[in-house]
Order: sequence, then C-alpha cells, then structure tokens
Amino acid sequence: MPPTPHDHGEKNPAPASSPARAKVGFARPTRDAVTTIREDGSHRYLHPADAPGRFFKARTLSGWLLIVVYLSLPWIKIGAHPAVFLDVAARRFHLFGLTFAFQDIWMLFFGITGLGFGLFFITSLLGRVWCGWACPQTVFLDHIYRRIERLLEGDAPKRRALDAAPWTTAKILRRSAKHILYVAVSAIIAHLFLAYFISIPALWSMMSAAPAEHWGAFVFVALFTGALYGNFAWFREQLCLIICPYGRLQSVLIDDHSLVIGYDEKRGEPRGKLSIPNAGACIDCNRCVRVCPTGIDIRQGLQMECIGCAACVDACDEVMTKINRPTGLIRYDSLSGLRGEKTKWLRPRVFIYGALLLVGAIVATLALSTVRPANLQITRLGGTPYFVDATSVRNQFLVRIVNKRDHAQRFALTISDPSVEISGWSDAVELAPGVEEVRPLILQIPLGRYTGPAHLQVQVTSLDESFSLKRTIDFVGPNPAYMKKSSAPDGSAGVPPAPSSSTATP
Ligand code: SF4
Ligand code: SF4
Repeated sequence: MPPTPHDHGEKNPAPASSPARAKVGFARPTRDAVTTIREDGSHRYLHPADAPGRFFKARTLSGWLLIVVYLSLPWIKIGAHPAVFLDVAARRFHLFGLTFAFQDIWMLFFGITGLGFGLFFITSLLGRVWCGWACPQTVFLDHIYRRIERLLEGDAPKRRALDAAPWTTAKILRRSAKHILYVAVSAIIAHLFLAYFISIPALWSMMSAAPAEHWGAFVFVALFTGALYGNFAWFREQLCLIICPYGRLQSVLIDDHSLVIGYDEKRGEPRGKLSIPNAGACIDCNRCVRVCPTGIDIRQGLQMECIGCAACVDACDEVMTKINRPTGLIRYDSLSGLRGEKTKWLRPRVFIYGALLLVGAIVATLALSTVRPANLQITRLGGTPYFVDATSVRNQFLVRIVNKRDHAQRFALTISDPSVEISGWSDAVELAPGVEEVRPLILQIPLGRYTGPAHLQVQVTSLDESFSLKRTIDFVGPNPAYMKKSSAPDGSAGVPPAPSSSTATP
C-alpha cells in the first residue's frame, strides 16, 4: 500500500490482525524538519496512537476539571453577576465578586505581568507543564475533539486506514458525523465564550431572536465557531509549533535543571531488539513516536515541538512493564537528572522569576485593596480657567461619578473650604447600579474672601455606605495684590485686567 498523506507512525505495534491495522510505511522524525510539515509546506495530519497510562488518566481528570470550570463560570453568580463577566456594554469587569470599572483598566497591567511572571516561574521549574496539562488548545483537543475522532473512526491504525480508503457511503457517513460533531462542539464553546462578555440571559435572548436582530453577535459566534473548528479539526498541533509564542520562548526560560520530559540515553542506548545481547533498555519499538501528538522522537533530545503531554512516558512505561524492565526510560526529569547528575531546583533564575512574581503579587494585592465601590474623577472645564465678575471669582469643573455597586447609592459632595460656594451639587445625587453621572461643578469665592489661588479638597461621600472619595483640585484666579491696587474708589474690589480671556463672563 502506498504511503498515505497521514503517514506518521504507520508502523503498527500490534499484531496486524485486521485489515484496518495494515502497515503503510513509517515517517521517522528528524531534528532537521518538523514532522507535521511536508517539504512542500503542506500539513501532514497525524493520528497519534492511544497511550493509556497514569499520566493519561491524571491529564484526563485535570482536563475535564478545567473544561467544567470553563463551561460553568458564566452560570455561577457571585452577588448579582456571573463569577467572571467582562460586561462590554456597561464597561465593567466582574471578577469573583469584585467589580472593576473602565477607569480601573490600569490594573490590567498587573494581571498581564502577573500572568507572564507566573508562567516564567512555573516554566523555569516545571518546563511545559502548562502546555501539556492546562492550555485550552491541548485540553479541548485531547479531551473533546480527539475523543470524538476516536469514538467515530476507531484507534490510530483504523483512522489511517480510513484516510487511505476510497470514499464509500460508510466513510462519508463517518466523516460527516465527525465534522458535524466538531462544528456543534465548536459552536457550544463559541457561545459560552460570548457569554463571558454578555451573560447567559443575554446570550439566550440573542439565541432566541433572529440573527438579523443581533448581527454583531451572530457574526462573532459564526467566525469564532469557524476558527475553532478549523483549529481543532485540521490545524491542531500546528498552532503550538507555528503560532504560539510561548513555545518559542521555551529555550530561554528553561535550563538543564528544569523539569522536562526526556529520554534516559545512558540507560536506553545502544537501542536494539530484546534478543540483541548487550543492547540498551530501548527496544526501538517506536511506540513513543507513534503516540506523540506533535510527531517527534523524544529520543533525539529535547525539542521545541514537545508540548509535555507525557504520552510518550505512558507509552514507554507500558512497553517496559511488558518486557519486565524498570519503567522511567522516558520520564519527567531535568536534563541534568537524565545525564545522571543532580538536579538543582533552587537556581538564580528561579529566584529572579519568583521574586518578580512575589513583588507583582504584593503590588497587585495593594492595588486591589484600593478598588472602591465608586469612581470619582474631577476635571477642569475646557476654555477659560477662571471668571471674575463684580462679586466673585469662579472656577468650573466636570465631576464624573461611577457607581460600581449592584444597588443604587446616594452621593453628597462637600468642599474643604466653607467659604467656597457650590453650584450644581446642592442636593445628594442618586445613581442606579453601574450608572455614571457627569455634572458640572461651579465653585465661587466672593471677592471679599478671595485670597488667591488655592488647593481645595473635594469629598464625595456615599450616604448609604461608609466610604468617601477625595480629590484635590486647584482653584485658580487673579493675583489678589493686583486686585487691591485696582480697587474701585467706592471701596469695592476691582476687576483685574489679566488674563484677558479670563475676564470674560460666559
Ligand atoms: S515528546 Fe512526548 S511529551 Fe513531548 S509532545 Fe511528544 S509525546 Fe508529548
Ligand atoms: S517506547 Fe521506549 S522502548 Fe519503545 S522506542 Fe520509545 S523509548 Fe524505546
């Protein structure tokens, strides 16, 4: 049988007892080329063999836990909002009971840097544990899409045989069923992803209405479903190898003492059949290659394509158990450990990444503690900075208050200097949940009490809750000494001539 397009791992380990398990050649990985990309640049679609084992079981458990968390978070309410809800329409982010307004976007800096340093720290210690155990690409691919494929088309040899088989009705039906399920799962993931931004009730109401009523959301879900389908049905490991920047960063984040998945060359080489005297522990069965989802041979050393899925560990342990040799020929270890040397867990890079993570976590905690139930912003109105008339000096501001609570709040505004007269905020202002109010604030100081520019403290107090927000503003005006000189003969204060624009009354 000629080689098929899906020619990875086609040397069948099991007895070829069925036609579906026919041997169709074997593409041996090399370190000079990516197995999943042919010389002409096209994608070589892999069918990794099953590798049941302790890591597979543990990864299945953790993978399903993560999937359940992802699918359930939009449904779980903390307070009045979903546990994680980026409310785009209201420009709010609800995170496990905390509410961030758009004005708190600066905290994103701590989120992103914390994520980065956390990943650096974990990678320097545990290598690509994120990729193999927690990355959504691996989790959804391994625990949902590959399972659908396995369920409908059988194990790897059967799938390869199906690839090579002519297009009969049975093949068309199987393939159609698989792709219909792929699209359905992709649509579910895409809809739930949208729920993180609009909430489940809003999603449901959009789904119940005609697409024309929500074109934006409909197009987003359609495009996202298509992207997920294309990625998980076809692109698969290419995303890790070609697109993901984290994979590319591996070589600078890990060193000889980081935990990786590796082959014990000292014990395994020279590889050879069981019957060969003095051969190493590796019987060259290529089982570790056939189970690899990225198509590499881990015996050729640590490679960028290794996503740390531990399938080769399970596969080799199974082989070693069958031939009564100690397991662990391929194992989690550091490169030093695999060479028989001691692994140093505590190293400068671990301390540096750990310290950066710690500092970031402390600063983020402090920043989080400053998040208030309301936001207050005071800006000077554009144009003339102050106005002077026969009785007072006047400054004009815009006050923006955002109520971040889930219930209405009443706010009162006061000024530190009692001689300042306030217009625009005489009564308390009631704000509905999540509502933003922008009002002019006009401050006047009678000329008789005006002593020159001053710093004033504006305090906005919630009348329903025991918190207040304070801002310091600058009250500007003319030089009082000049005003005295230009006092009118009748004893009243004069109107200063400078700045010319400031003397205008709007
Ligand atoms: S080499 Fe092993 S751990 Fe790495 S991707 Fe392949 S099977 Fe997974
Ligand atoms: S599975 Fe183990 S014994 Fe078989 S080729 Fe790989 S390393 Fe060698």
